[in-house]
Amino acid sequence: MPSIFTKIINGEIPCYKVAEDENFIAFLDINPNAKGHTLCVPKQEINRIFDMEEKHYLDLMRFSRKVAKALEKVIPCDRIGISVIGLEVPHVHVHLIPINEMKDMTFQHKVQLTSEEMAALAQNIQESL
Ligand code: 5GP
Repeated sequence: MPSIFTKIINGEIPCYKVAEDENFIAFLDINPNAKGHTLCVPKQEINRIFDMEEKHYLDLMRFSRKVAKALEKVIPCDRIGISVIGLEVPHVHVHLIPINEMKDMTFQHKVQLTSEEMAALAQNIQESL
């Protein structure tokens, strides 16, 4: 059964997309730790990040760095935190989280944005790539 992220990649489920190329997509996390929390996802459905072929893994990091640079331009924050978990969605994804304090990385504190705010944010990030 395809992962929820494969369904997003295939356009079966909507997302607030911020970047896409041949092999990767980035979209806003639906339940963000902080404004601008973004997921960078390989289109190939792989469960564990370190099972990725080395070049594919390095390409994901390059793609994530590019998205992080755009996030830095759009979101006032101290820095962009990076995390890979995958316990909820077993399809590799890099969390990019604009952070100011350690609690922003704990996944215990969440922020809520309206759909209009999410759409505007995704567009701003896209335009800053
Ligand atoms: P993890 O698998 O790394 O523990 O967490 C999965 C992340 O994916 C969570 O931060 C969760 O909010 C996010 N997520 C789960 N389902 C969806 C979805 O359908 N759309 C989006 N944009 N994010 C999702």
